[in-house]
Amino acid sequence: MVSFIARVEKEGRVFLPVQVREQINIRSRDLLKFCRVGEYIIVEKKYQTCIFCGQRHDLVEFRSKYLCRGCRSGLLGMVSVPVRKAHLQVAHP
Ligand SMILES: [Zn+2]
Repeated sequence: MVSFIARVEKEGRVFLPVQVREQINIRSRDLLKFCRVGEYIIVEKKYQTCIFCGQRHDLVEFRSKYLCRGCRSGLLGMVSVPVRKAHLQVAHP
């Protein structure tokens, strides 16, 4: 096990040592998940996932939420059907 020591700064800030950031590929603006297990705190990188299926790849952001292109296509398909019916009813009363 490799361990590092970091000091807690004002407002609870902790600077992760560069070795830690490189080992688990943490970049600026990434999210971290903290999990307390007894007297230990486990820190892991939190990956963005699709809010519907949990997929981590091929995501698009919409209003600060992420969804995969497959779910996005499914949603767009659901939205387009009622719009077409409404348009037809208006055009042919
Ligand atoms: Zn999805």
